Amino acid sequence: MTNYDDTNARALERGHQQHLDDISGVYESEIPERSLTVICPTCRRRQDSESVTFRGIEEDMQGRDVLTFDCPVCGAKMVESLVFG
Ligand SMILES: [Zn+2]
Repeated sequence: MTNYDDTNARALERGHQQHLDDISGVYESEIPERSLTVICPTCRRRQDSESVTFRGIEEDMQGRDVLTFDCPVCGAKMVESLVFG
């Protein structure tokens, strides 16, 4: 069954490569230079800004960054939080 084993090994190799490609794509497009956290006002959970669904960012009166996001923990939509570096 040598042929079968070779085919199976190649299929695994392709799957592994595809997985690496997916991860690198995420890193390039969504992860900022430094780690930032936000606190969901609904469930009070502190989370990486990378793990929430980004909707927008703006500054408050004091010039602090306020992130608008969907919370993956409690499902709250378009909630806002100060960004903590
Ligand atoms: Zn939440």
